[in-house]
Amino acid sequence: MIDYSTVGISPAVQAYGEKKEAELTARFAAIDRVAEANQLKVLAAMQKNRLAEAHLGTSTGYGYNDAGRDTLAAVYADTFHTEAALVRPQITCGTHALTVGLWACLHPGDEILSAVGKPYDTLEEVIGIRPSAGSLAEYGITYAQADPDENGDPDIPAIVSRINERTRLVEIQRSRGYSSRPTLSCEKIGQIIAAVKAVKPDVICMVDNCYGEFAEEIEPSDVGADLVVGSLIKNPGGGLASTGGYLAGRQDIIDRCAYRLNAPGLGAEVGASLGLLPSMFQGFFLAPTVTASAIKGAVFAASCFEGLGFEVIPRPETPRYDIIQQVILRKPELLVAFCRGIQAAAPVDSFVAPEPWDMPGYDAPVIMAAGAFVQGSSIELSADGPLKEPYSVFFQGGLTWYHAKTGVLMAVQKLVDEGLTLC
Ligand SMILES: *Cc1c(COP(=O)(O)O)cnc(C)c1O
Repeated sequence: MIDYSTVGISPAVQAYGEKKEAELTARFAAIDRVAEANQLKVLAAMQKNRLAEAHLGTSTGYGYNDAGRDTLAAVYADTFHTEAALVRPQITCGTHALTVGLWACLHPGDEILSAVGKPYDTLEEVIGIRPSAGSLAEYGITYAQADPDENGDPDIPAIVSRINERTRLVEIQRSRGYSSRPTLSCEKIGQIIAAVKAVKPDVICMVDNCYGEFAEEIEPSDVGADLVVGSLIKNPGGGLASTGGYLAGRQDIIDRCAYRLNAPGLGAEVGASLGLLPSMFQGFFLAPTVTASAIKGAVFAASCFEGLGFEVIPRPETPRYDIIQQVILRKPELLVAFCRGIQAAAPVDSFVAPEPWDMPGYDAPVIMAAGAFVQGSSIELSADGPLKEPYSVFFQGGLTWYHAKTGVLMAVQKLVDEGLTLC
């Protein structure tokens, strides 16, 4: 008998979790099938590109002739079924990768259209929705937005109506991130792209793929995206990549991205890999199962907290296209307790108690729980939420299903300690 009291979870909470888990057997099997298909895809890409021990070395300085780095890019391109990819530790985060993509594609006088509401928070300053030094707006690149319909789905007629002669790029964010609309399936992304291309075939369709990689058997690049972009401290890094980002897409666009990331004329030829290639390759190899673990954790959290009477988004039975779970806790003390549970279940810094703090750029104090091997890694078990109505927590990650389960049980435990009764 497994005994969760060794980490501070009571037999009653463990039993509650076991009951919920038993209801999810079929769901978990379906998640495993997606991971299996994606594992095969990644393996085939590594074999096709003849990944060799010699590719796991390093380069320094300019990084000329780094065959390992170029093979990693080819493995990404083949996995995403794109002509080319740029996968680099010099891409510092998802926002940076997206910024490289936008700057590579847009010229003064062009317009960017966000297809499903506002883009991810950090892109607001990049685009200039919130004024910022060096934004696209400063260079005369304008912004337009189509909001989702009343169900939160893409409003295709609204999207099409906002395309004009200056529209150069349509940005489509796959994951809901921290917004209230549902995450887009690749199928829906394909519908948006088809509608856009029908009215203006040369518009670049760029997908913010953060949190979505390997959640389905296909990727946005399989349904017509010209460019897909993401962070290596989320799904595709598999928890092992210690930094980095990727862009995958059309060869001409990736060439421009490399010119923008490095310098015109230099492009992808430079960029030392600094000994990071083994973790980037191995992390990508593990990413399908790691992503599946995180999705199981999200479904399990939805099931446990819905069972306790909380509103959860998405619901346990809703199909998943990313790894994020929202739980609406309604009370500040429950939000704090939830995050302290996730923290207490961490392998690193389990002994600290997170406190709400005034984070720059937010209009309310934010509490964050993260005890990660890689700073800020949100493919590792983590939770955060702003201390304001309706006191929602956003929960994501889990390098293994067992750890995700422990984190959810610990969050339940902390709520029970606050006086909540199990039913
Ligand atoms: C995480 C994320 C980003 C980029 O965030 P970084 O913290 O810069 O890596 C962009 N879009 C979405 C939807 C995300 O989830």
